Amino acid sequence: MRVLVKGAGVAGLTVAFELATRGAAVTVAETRHGLGGNASWFAGGMLAPWCERESAEQPVLDLGRDAADWWEAATPGQVTRAGTLVVAAPRDAGELDRFASRTSGHRRVDEDEIALLEPDLAGRFRRGLLFSDEAHLDPRQAMAALHDRLAAMGVEFHFCADAPAVSGFGRQIDCTGMSAVDGRLRGVRGEMLILRTPDVSLSRPVRLLHPRFPLYMVPRTDHRFMIGATMIESQSTGPVTARSMMELLGAAYALHPAFGEADIIETGVGIRPAFPDNLPRVEACGSTVAINGLYRHGFLLAPAMARQAADLVFNHDGTKELAHETVGQRRSA
Ligand SMILES: Cc1cc2nc3c(=O)[nH]c(=O)nc-3n(C[C@H](O)[C@H](O)[C@H](O)COP(=O)(O)OP(=O)(O)OC[C@H]3O[C@@H](n4cnc5c(N)ncnc54)[C@H](O)[C@@H]3O)c2cc1C
Repeated sequence: MRVLVKGAGVAGLTVAFELATRGAAVTVAETRHGLGGNASWFAGGMLAPWCERESAEQPVLDLGRDAADWWEAATPGQVTRAGTLVVAAPRDAGELDRFASRTSGHRRVDEDEIALLEPDLAGRFRRGLLFSDEAHLDPRQAMAALHDRLAAMGVEFHFCADAPAVSGFGRQIDCTGMSAVDGRLRGVRGEMLILRTPDVSLSRPVRLLHPRFPLYMVPRTDHRFMIGATMIESQSTGPVTARSMMELLGAAYALHPAFGEADIIETGVGIRPAFPDNLPRVEACGSTVAINGLYRHGFLLAPAMARQAADLVFNHDGTKELAHETVGQRRSA
């Protein structure tokens, strides 16, 4: 079966992998000139379904708990399984209790254990939560690795194009994120920074709870740290605002004062595509299957959505139109 995937963000790349693995002849068309610049490019890369359950519904945990395994199998060596550490300043201890009561899969850690887990945070926080089954990856490296693997499997990539010159695809998968023509979608703006300092080392993502400016910091290679992210109901792709920059940097400084001396090597803005319930959807109509609404869970939920989309494609007779169908997120009662 010949399948055209539109969009080379995390949704497009993961479904291309699922389809190619199951024997489809896959072509990916992407309007940008390369893998960068989309929402996926600016993501933190946290595979954190238990933490996300604090503000997300149960399907995010159910669909996301196998994501780290999927990424490890598809892009060997890209996943770091060191858990997530959640901390709060002593005056915000109530935030930690609230977070603990809204989540599962964690255990409480005291000052001594925080120092063992993250020596550079020694003496800075008295209490925390460790979500030991969580993982993270560098989105840019993981997408590049997935692209290279797909190319080696024979998947064709057409950049700077919304369709290849040739036609004759039996199925099309729409993974165009915020560009999709879908009146239900809204954008949620996420601003992020990348800082570099040799004076701090972290082994895992750290979330700093705060009543107004919760922040997470994801360690990357070469002493770089991704600091994120704002959540603003807006589709504006304009530059990071001074206010957001102050909030992100203030929180980074609260996590460790050495970030005050860090180099700001990048500021970025990504627009998260979201449906009204903030849950993703796989929808079929005619010969097209659409994956969208990944919101703040693209790397976490794209593997499960890609599987559902590939099931839809392969469980139908290729000569027939797909019925209008939505694969639910198996909402729990
Ligand atoms: C700051 C920030 C931090 C985040 N952190 C995390 C995190 O830690 N963990 C996590 O799981 N998620 C995270 N997310 C969410 C995640 O990034 C998104 O859910 C995800 O990137 C959405 O992926 P997508 O493929 O649907 O869209 P996109 O990445 O936007 O990709 C869509 C692609 O389609 C292309 N396109 C558009 N129109 C066409 C067309 N007509 N033809 C061909 N191509 C087209 C676009 O150029 C684009 O490349 C974060 C998001 C942001 C902004």
